Amino acid sequence: MPYKYDDQNIFAKILRGEIPNDTVVETEHTLAFNDIGPKAPVHVLVVPKGSYVNHDHFHSRATDAEILDFVRVTARIIADKGLAPGAGGSGYRVIGNAGPHGLQEVPHYHLHILGGRPLGAMVP
Ligand code: IMP
Repeated sequence: MPYKYDDQNIFAKILRGEIPNDTVVETEHTLAFNDIGPKAPVHVLVVPKGSYVNHDHFHSRATDAEILDFVRVTARIIADKGLAPGAGGSGYRVIGNAGPHGLQEVPHYHLHILGGRPLGAMVP
């Protein structure tokens, strides 16, 4: 089934500047902002600016520049928030939900970066 992007989703509205966000990092291809309902002391959403529905859509259609930027922004936030175990941090979790089984709520691709407390076992 072809990917169908709904340009009325809430992240599309944030990217168009129609509703505000609490920006953490913005680059040419990526916007990262704090989750409105944080599940941990650090809960940042990393969002590509292009119109991609989910992880598989992004990685099958995005340019190398978009993908590299997205990956680098994710790593930069992990470092800037002091979460990286290799640099003395206590760790983190990166999650991407997709489709009905992944319980994706907002149909614009994003990753969640969670940290700042023990996150528990990764069970549904
Ligand atoms: P999903 O289930 O992976 O799609 O998660 C969507 C996330 O977006 C949830 O954690 C929501 O709390 C978050 N969210 C929804 N609306 C907003 C908003 O306007 N600003 C920031 N985060 C939002």
